[in-house]
Amino acid sequence: MVNNGHTVQINFSADNRMQLEGREYRLLQLHFHAPSEHHLQGRQFPMEAHLVHADADGNLAVVAVLFQEGAENGWLDGSWPVMPGHAGAKVQLKKGVSADGLLPEKRDFYRYNGSLTTPPCSEGVRWVVMKQPVSASRTQIETFRHTLHEPNNRPVQPLNARLVLE
Ligand SMILES: [Zn+2]
Repeated sequence: MVNNGHTVQINFSADNRMQLEGREYRLLQLHFHAPSEHHLQGRQFPMEAHLVHADADGNLAVVAVLFQEGAENGWLDGSWPVMPGHAGAKVQLKKGVSADGLLPEKRDFYRYNGSLTTPPCSEGVRWVVMKQPVSASRTQIETFRHTLHEPNNRPVQPLNARLVLE
């Protein structure tokens, strides 16, 4: 788990795979934004996770999971208590975390093509946005916000001619 000054990121070495539209992607890392970058029906959420995957050709697919404030999130308990507090710090998690456990119960999603939300903001990213938010406690959200000191969300971008599939 790495604090790179822009986000807190968990790097994955194990062989975690996802199938999307007939292609196979491997999970590279997941990281967090607060507040959320995606808005659903105009609503912004206090936090968002991005599960960044790449296929064998280097094409990226990112799964976004939105957090709403509510019950404590048991999945975050595996890493939040040891979150590296300053830029450049990292920690080896004692127990492996399964990215699958972060996903909401319902697996319905929005699908569109877009870009990375951090520089260089490259295009050609396949975005999968889970429709059902998961919950995190106010304390869990505050822990992340305080660690980063400032919001790390890219502003919402124009849709232009893009299709958003459900
Ligand atoms: Zn991100």
